[in-house]
Amino acid sequence: MPFHTDFRFKPYRDEKGNLKPHPPAERIYGPVSSIGPLTVCAYLVETSAGLAAVDAGYDSDGDLLVNNIRALGLEPQDLKLILLTHWHQDHASGAARLAKATGAKVVIHEKDAEIVATGACRGESIMPPVKIDKRLKDGEVVELGGVAFKTVHCPGQSAGEVVFLATVNGPDGPCRTIFAGDATGFKDDVKTLDRLGYPGVCADFRRTVGILRALEFDLYLGGHPHQVFDEARADGHPFISRDEWLKLVNGRSEQMETFVKQHPRYLDW
Ligand SMILES: [Zn+2]
Repeated sequence: MPFHTDFRFKPYRDEKGNLKPHPPAERIYGPVSSIGPLTVCAYLVETSAGLAAVDAGYDSDGDLLVNNIRALGLEPQDLKLILLTHWHQDHASGAARLAKATGAKVVIHEKDAEIVATGACRGESIMPPVKIDKRLKDGEVVELGGVAFKTVHCPGQSAGEVVFLATVNGPDGPCRTIFAGDATGFKDDVKTLDRLGYPGVCADFRRTVGILRALEFDLYLGGHPHQVFDEARADGHPFISRDEWLKLVNGRSEQMETFVKQHPRYLDW
């Protein structure tokens, strides 16, 4: 493996089964750091024109992300861009607070933008609204200080779920990084799918599996630590191999196919 890092995605519970405290901010590779809470990921990328964050954690975690930026020796005021992988509360509800504290601009795929802009889903208020500065389309590139984040629309988890691809320069050379959000995820219980799903979710996810399988990258930065330590490689190493990536994606694909066999109505939804 050409890239070295001491960073590992770690399990949420200690030996006694208790939830651990939030982990400290930690450098992953080159300009990329982890700044998220315990169970959901948020990342920070240093560029020559300031900082970019991918996902913003929970609003209920308060100033955690701002404090984590400071803990890395960086200035929250330098945060210029917040890229959201999808609207779900664990990834997007912290965006309003983070944008307010830093003045950063917020971008998200056009199909998830309205929920985050209004803070409401199906008429129910679910998170603090935040101004969306750009509504992204598939293939769109957002650039900051020489780092180009390419948007790849991967609907399924939500209608506007995306992954961002960016090459970052680090000590072992340029590294193709995927900020994958929850694009690999599938909610295979009826209650959750009815609450978070949308018409076409299963057909979308089926197509997205093909898109995900074809992606090439070195560093896998998903939406939750367990996507690595449960689904790809037990040691939590973020530089997963192609086989480990296919294991992760195929595992979720099988989960979806099993679900729609039992609940075929979701294929027509
Ligand atoms: Zn999530």
